[in-house]
Amino acid sequence: MAIPEKPVKPTKYLNRLKWTSFLSCLFVLAIAATSQARNYGSIHLVMGTPSSTPDSTNRDDFLLIKRQYAVSYNSTKGTANWVSWQLNASWIGAVDRCKSFSPDPTLPRGFKVVTPTDYTGSGFSRGHMTRSGDRTVTATDNCATFLMTNIVPQTQENNEGPWLELENLSKDLALSGKELYIIAGPLGVGGTGLKGEKTQIGKNEVTVPSSLWKIVVILDKPGIRMKGITAKTRVIAVNMPNTLGIKASSYKEYLTTVDELEKLTGYDFLSDVPKEVQDAIEAKKDGE
Ligand code: MN
Ligand code: MN
Repeated sequence: MAIPEKPVKPTKYLNRLKWTSFLSCLFVLAIAATSQARNYGSIHLVMGTPSSTPDSTNRDDFLLIKRQYAVSYNSTKGTANWVSWQLNASWIGAVDRCKSFSPDPTLPRGFKVVTPTDYTGSGFSRGHMTRSGDRTVTATDNCATFLMTNIVPQTQENNEGPWLELENLSKDLALSGKELYIIAGPLGVGGTGLKGEKTQIGKNEVTVPSSLWKIVVILDKPGIRMKGITAKTRVIAVNMPNTLGIKASSYKEYLTTVDELEKLTGYDFLSDVPKEVQDAIEAKKDGE
């Protein structure tokens, strides 16, 4: 049955037009607010926030945003779930390494506050997620990487072997003019350090991970951000065992896909990247 159309008066039509534009403006603002909420205005989260909220009841997935990087802190584990940071040449300067590691003073009351001595004599090194060498313009920036919320129990051989090799490659890429978005974290429970296998260390019972993973997204130049990411963007994803005997290994032996890391961690990485692009870059290993 055909419904007879009512003739629309010109004034009514104009009113309707005004309402339509008003409502579409509201819609655009709402979208902007949502995407703002997803990255909390942090440059370190422009590719997406895998989880986490800055709500202190969220003790095992608590978002800490610093000028230098962003962290999802896990109060049960005493380590990050992940740390995310931008890297380009503007973060790299010449300051000396910070003199000491420190407890993170920004954690809410009642949270587990890990201290540097939790790691002393444990057989595991204090492994930086955001590398000290990635924040060397000011002493303040560099010392921020020495806060214990940026540190995980990492074997010396992992830290000074394949992990360092990928850190050096990332820094070289940044110095050559690229812009990198990096996210890294510990995975699983139980690693083998200089004093044998451990599931936790220190008075604060810091969880020792069984591996450490990292995702490095490499864009052509600083400032292009999401506009610079395509199905051809180079992404390096690795998952490295937290064990001994790997110091001479290359990071290339531990290449994996973002898809695989998403399966292992349960996170959706690069979640603000358009879906078709995510599908492409998350499925391939670097070099394939
Ligand atoms: Mn390190
Ligand atoms: Mn994803």
